[in-house]
Amino acid sequence: MANSCRKLIFNIYLVFYCSAVIMPHICICSQFTSSPIDQFNKDPRAFPIATNGEIFPWHELRLPTVIIPLHYDLLIHPNLTSLDFVASEKIEVLVRDATQFIVLHSKDLEILNASLQSEEDVRYRKPGESLTVLSYPAHQQIALLVPEKLRADLRYSVAIDFQAKLADGFEGFYKSTYRTLGGETRTIAVTDFEPTEARMAFPCFDEPLFKANFSIKIRRESRHIALSNMPKVKTIELEGGLLEDHFETTVKMSTYLVAYIVCDFTSVSGTASSGVKVSIYASPDKWSQTHYALEASLKLLDYYENYFDIHYPLPKLDLVAIPDFASGAMENWGLVTYRETSLLFDPKKSSISDKLWVTKVIAHELAHQWFGNLVTMEWWNDIWLNEGFATYMELISLNITYPELQFDDDFSNTCFEVIKRDSLNSSHPISNQAKTAIQIKEMFDAVSYNKGACILNMLKDFLSEDTFRKGIIHYLKKFSYRNAKNDDLWHSLSNVSHQLSYRRLLNCLESDSASGGFCYSDSKKTSNTLAFQLAFLRKNVELKEMMATWTLQKGIPLVVVKREGRSLRLQQERFLSGVSKEDPEWGTLQERYLWHIPVTYSTSSSHAIHRHILKLKTDTLDLSEKTDWVKFNVDSNGYYIVHYEGQGWDELITLLNQNHTLLRPKDRLGLIHDAFQLVSAGRLTLDKALDLTRYLQRETSIPALLKGLEYLELLYRMVERRNISDVTENLKHYLLQYFKPVIDTQSWVDKGSVWDRMLRSTVLKLACYLNHAPCIQKATELFSQWMESSGKLNIPTDVLKVVYSVGAQTTAGWNYLLEQYELSLSGAEKNKILYALSTSKHQEKLMKLIELGMEGKVIKTQDLAALLFAIARNPEGQQLAWNFVKENWTHLLKKLVFVYILIAQLVKNPPTMKRPRFNFWVGKIRWRRDRLPTPVCLGLPGGSTGKESACDAADLGLMPGLGRSPGEGKGYPLQRSGLENSMDCIVHMVTKSRAQLSDFHNVYSSTQIFQLHKTECNQMFPKAYE
Ligand SMILES: [Zn+2]
Repeated sequence: MANSCRKLIFNIYLVFYCSAVIMPHICICSQFTSSPIDQFNKDPRAFPIATNGEIFPWHELRLPTVIIPLHYDLLIHPNLTSLDFVASEKIEVLVRDATQFIVLHSKDLEILNASLQSEEDVRYRKPGESLTVLSYPAHQQIALLVPEKLRADLRYSVAIDFQAKLADGFEGFYKSTYRTLGGETRTIAVTDFEPTEARMAFPCFDEPLFKANFSIKIRRESRHIALSNMPKVKTIELEGGLLEDHFETTVKMSTYLVAYIVCDFTSVSGTASSGVKVSIYASPDKWSQTHYALEASLKLLDYYENYFDIHYPLPKLDLVAIPDFASGAMENWGLVTYRETSLLFDPKKSSISDKLWVTKVIAHELAHQWFGNLVTMEWWNDIWLNEGFATYMELISLNITYPELQFDDDFSNTCFEVIKRDSLNSSHPISNQAKTAIQIKEMFDAVSYNKGACILNMLKDFLSEDTFRKGIIHYLKKFSYRNAKNDDLWHSLSNVSHQLSYRRLLNCLESDSASGGFCYSDSKKTSNTLAFQLAFLRKNVELKEMMATWTLQKGIPLVVVKREGRSLRLQQERFLSGVSKEDPEWGTLQERYLWHIPVTYSTSSSHAIHRHILKLKTDTLDLSEKTDWVKFNVDSNGYYIVHYEGQGWDELITLLNQNHTLLRPKDRLGLIHDAFQLVSAGRLTLDKALDLTRYLQRETSIPALLKGLEYLELLYRMVERRNISDVTENLKHYLLQYFKPVIDTQSWVDKGSVWDRMLRSTVLKLACYLNHAPCIQKATELFSQWMESSGKLNIPTDVLKVVYSVGAQTTAGWNYLLEQYELSLSGAEKNKILYALSTSKHQEKLMKLIELGMEGKVIKTQDLAALLFAIARNPEGQQLAWNFVKENWTHLLKKLVFVYILIAQLVKNPPTMKRPRFNFWVGKIRWRRDRLPTPVCLGLPGGSTGKESACDAADLGLMPGLGRSPGEGKGYPLQRSGLENSMDCIVHMVTKSRAQLSDFHNVYSSTQIFQLHKTECNQMFPKAYE
């Protein structure tokens, strides 16, 4: 896969180079060597059949590049009563090579007529010639056949009239509704095009490379307003009282960034330092929740203009809260659309986590105005260039604009989150092949977003912040209004880093390699000496090679460190969750994996950060002096996991117990994460990982404390789901005792730093979940007061979720919450109420929620996936949710855009079923009430000797969130019930071949699909379906 990808990029580069020389203003590249007409004439039988029975003249998924769109004139008239729209467009195109047809995208549009004018026709106002339109829905394409061949290097104007229904879902030009305070339901029409849905709104060349200018006109009734990418120039009154808004022509941009909305929203506006007008729009009753977003977006826009040294190129920027929205937000140029909970902030109902989320999403979408909108990836395989960068910029911008949000301490979690996914064999490279619309959609996942951001963060740490920034400014300036690919980025960064780093390295040599904390360590291997590193920096190609190991191969490396005297022996391998080194497939899964890892480490004898590039499978480093311990991956900036062989872990555990502050807070956080990950891979015993958490009572860094607590809670929930009451009780008692000091010091108010407040929310939620009497009492008291005040009492936002969840456990409380859910105008509050409702122990209540979610009125369809997931997390709801999903599989697929993700999440929490073998095994695990749990594994074949670590790994592998590898647990089939194996297997199928799975649905019913999985899974696990 990596090779063919490289080939494609290479071909594109060649053609790009030629076109750039011939037509510097039109940077369209082509991978095709012969013209479409030649191909068609050669073998017409190889071409598909259009809907009218004629041969469709194009057989590729990608459009031919002989026609280039330059400008679109769009007139759209949506009718919010009949819920449809009529529209017309004129596309000015340039013909690069003579052709007899024009192929463009169109999906679910009724084409009324199409005509063509040459430049001469336009000049002399001659009417257009009518064109024959062929349609090939499988590729979402139409072909316009012209009577006479279009001539090369000439411009033509294509006019198309078309109409369609406003879409039902969340894509294309779709309808969204909201309820007013007075109970009236109002409809708006809104677009969402990324990645391939502009074609649902107007026929177009719907690929990111076909950048063009857009002049948009929208007809509307006077009670509505219309918004689009650019400011409105004028409004014309038409016969019958209709109004027609004309918007300024856009800058050159890709189709997926076009946007327009017809609504009755109100706004609040401000002006950025550069004069750009920024407005936040929401439905009229929610206007009061728009002010924080305005403050944040003004601040962030100023920041980015300064950071990128490039002005935001449009005169205005609108941010709009949409009542029905599939994802978190969409960065349409000049008209960014958001889910309401990602933009609106209600000081009375939004918690500190809500505030952090809103700020992060605004920072993300504004970063896209440069990364994505100004410079766009050539093709969707490199979507990480958009998403990885925008995610990474959240960190950079918030550190400066909102230091009080302390997001820097939370960024490691962005990486930890994707490591779970990336350590499975079913992961994919950051830069991956994507051809069909579904494959393209699959690219929008944690690997593109989070891993993209994490490797950029690692690269910044390697190159230095200053070099990195200069490099990306170079990249953005060079490719403005154009498209770029991976290599273009590495080239820009290399160019800049070369001179800066060379200078830095010389300084380093002069002042001895230990000074400044940024000099490279010596190595026994000559290839890693300073001379080598000078050579490395001189050769731009090295950075490209290094980053290729991170973008073109999937997975995450494990660095195994062994200290022998003053030598450090390093070894790298592929980290695989759920696959033990003893498993037969381990070797095969390691083949050909090698990373260039910029490792960092600190030791007991030096505060300096030592650096080294591990390019080989094994390497050796010399320590200049004797040390008591060594800790790799300083500040968790690197995207790799570290395992310490020999006494390594014991030394670190001793250090944490004696004086944990000798390690940096992010290093402590990283150690907890890595230790539990290693347990899931069978490399470390659960005992050892739990030993590492013994110091937590003294932990002063809240992110590290929360990470330890998270793993202990997962352990508790795993045992609880198994219904082993004595173990559950003992572990509960232990947790409450051990964390008593921190639980007791929590107050029920919104006070303190961001992390103080996050700790309060988490700890009180856990304490109440564990039925801690004082917690339940306080929450019940607040809930009663809130009910008595008819919902008017303001409960502190940080404990709102806990209070509602405790209140939801009585029928009266549950019913009252459901009433309030319907009335609440705060998305943040609604989320908290819905979560609370989903924690009920009564299945009929949970079923009612699912029914409401399916109906889509009280609980919106956009929230159905989150609701099902929350119910599946509830031990009483697991089976219910799972059965529901199985029975309604086909229906859900139609309803939910990202249903695959939901399914994967659901089945990662398999329902509690009879698991005789597993229960027997867990039954051997006992926890004493007064000390840390010590698992004793007796269930493995061959007894416990020498196999504890494998046993522990299997156990933790079943815990949600610990990265159990779906379908890869062959190492421990005997401890796992058939159901669990089959569930994992289905997750594997779903996550690995989602496109394929979706294709199945055109052919098979849901029962047959599960049967299909069953057959395939049975081959993987002979006893999967006992
Ligand atoms: Zn994004």
